[in-house]
Amino acid sequence: MRWLDKIGEQPAQAPPATQIESGVEPELSDVGKDAEPESKPAEWIYPRVQRRAMGSLFEVYLAGTDREAMVAAGEEALEEVERLERQLSHYRDDSDIARMNIHAKEQWVRLEPRLYELLKHCHELSRETDGAFDITAGPLVKAWGFFKGEGRIPGDSEIAELLENIGMERILFDDQDHLVYFTAPKLEINLGAIGKGFAVDAAARTLHFFGVDHAVIHGGQSTIYALGEPPADELGTEPDVSSRIPHSSSRNSPSLDSPSMPCGWPFDIKDPRDKETILETVYLKNQALSTSGNYEQFFEVDGTRYTHIIDPRTGMPVQGVVSVSVIADTAADSDALSTAFFVMGREATEEYCRTRPNIRVIMVEETQDDFIVTKIGFGS
Ligand code: ADP
Ligand code: MG
Repeated sequence: MRWLDKIGEQPAQAPPATQIESGVEPELSDVGKDAEPESKPAEWIYPRVQRRAMGSLFEVYLAGTDREAMVAAGEEALEEVERLERQLSHYRDDSDIARMNIHAKEQWVRLEPRLYELLKHCHELSRETDGAFDITAGPLVKAWGFFKGEGRIPGDSEIAELLENIGMERILFDDQDHLVYFTAPKLEINLGAIGKGFAVDAAARTLHFFGVDHAVIHGGQSTIYALGEPPADELGTEPDVSSRIPHSSSRNSPSLDSPSMPCGWPFDIKDPRDKETILETVYLKNQALSTSGNYEQFFEVDGTRYTHIIDPRTGMPVQGVVSVSVIADTAADSDALSTAFFVMGREATEEYCRTRPNIRVIMVEETQDDFIVTKIGFGS
């Protein structure tokens, strides 16, 4: 994904945002002076703030003219991500999710309204994907050894028992009072496949609230949201994204002369088998991009790769899919659908997208001796 490529090359402990900005003088020198006539246009600047959260590095790339206001907005956005981590993590004993997982099998549990709406949305996504996306699949993921420890292959009876305890139909909802109740004793909710996207959306809303019009936010690169578009047109200058925003590359930059210039922030979707090959360059404006891959977390036994995305209908890790990239209007949806389509495979994904023109997909599958790249929603 073009200018995010080299993020992985940064030292593991990235400095806090204030240090990143420390070499730059805040533009406060005019404070208190009489306003000067607006002789020269303001300069575009591209500050960046970052923070570790949800097991990933979250970063906000900002574009605008007021550094102090942008950095403050970026920090507010990251605060919102941290708040959501505290609320949604199943690793923390004190999160709302942990509290619900303990108590909702004994009694109705009241949820904060936005969390309640998120669970309802997950319920809807499960229904629309015929159960391929399922936030109750956590115990299966755990049984295959993915949360901690080594990968392992659970026995058939263990899987059968777990399947009896998962499924969104085992969660009851009370819309009036935002209550949930679990009808299976071992049911657990795990937002691993949608939480980062939900947090990225919340961060984007926060930026917008604080007046930021141009930004890119990502949570560990697997989910990206592009707010607005690169600041080109307003000032009538060529967008110098390549040199101003770290990790960018000028390759395939849009030409401003072309009447058919695509609008939006450019990203390269790379071939997972060969990072030099670009499968598609996409331009995103108020849209999100997520990728799920079988190379993220996996183990191998006798030449078979077992990956961390599980089909909740069978209890088995998905075979034969290498990666799925999804573009959608929200990061929660692109995140959730990249996991769902991974489980569903090509035909069911094509069927899903037939009535949803805003969703675009690039899926890479492998067969015994070949790879199949499928693009959905990119025209012929
Ligand atoms: P990433 O962490 O790179 O964003 P994904 O969005 O694909 O990866 O989410 C993978 C995580 O989702 C897994 O680690 C697991 O916790 C959870 N998961 C696995 N299978 C499913 C599924 N079928 N439905 C919902 N969540 C799943
Ligand atoms: Mg996902």
